Amino acid sequence: MLLTEPRPSGSGGSRRLGGEIAADMIYPIVKFGDPVLDREAEDVHEFDTPELHKFLEDMFESMYAAKGVGLAAPQIGFSRKIAVIDVSNGENPGDKLVLINPQILKTEGKQEGEEGCLSIPGFREQVKRARRVTVRAKDALGKEFEMTGEDLLARAFLHETDHLYGRLYISHISALKRDLLKRKIKKLQRAGEWG
Ligand SMILES: [Zn+2]
Repeated sequence: MLLTEPRPSGSGGSRRLGGEIAADMIYPIVKFGDPVLDREAEDVHEFDTPELHKFLEDMFESMYAAKGVGLAAPQIGFSRKIAVIDVSNGENPGDKLVLINPQILKTEGKQEGEEGCLSIPGFREQVKRARRVTVRAKDALGKEFEMTGEDLLARAFLHETDHLYGRLYISHISALKRDLLKRKIKKLQRAGEWG
């Protein structure tokens, strides 16, 4: 279900897809305050379709354009359990990861570090996360896999899976800090500086 009308803006090059030329679409990022970010996304049941492959390409392009290392479908207005991650930010093609219907299986250890979100631009907070995380997900073909990541990748698994269940990283900071941040965002919204 399409919950927010996506507004594709611009196009970056073109790519051969199923014999047709399809332009990459860069989607604008949905910001904090949009209800699509607060609800659990729907499971994906159809795999290996031209539409899904095209959508994943567009997600990667939208993520690179926004200079992120992870992007969840609700962040571009699609309430579906799909996330893409590339902790190399486009430097290493082997780091491109697709997580569909992901579940966190195991978390171990602790890490503390700054975390931000493309949907909450301009803010970063210290967030405690597990240091080693195992996720189970499906790939674009519908094949199930398990993967364990550490450090930034572990953080990305948790952050993006959270998005697909309607949770933002600010649910992991203190209520005091969260209220302060929300007040600052409200100010920006009132000033028309929050899309
Ligand atoms: Zn995020």
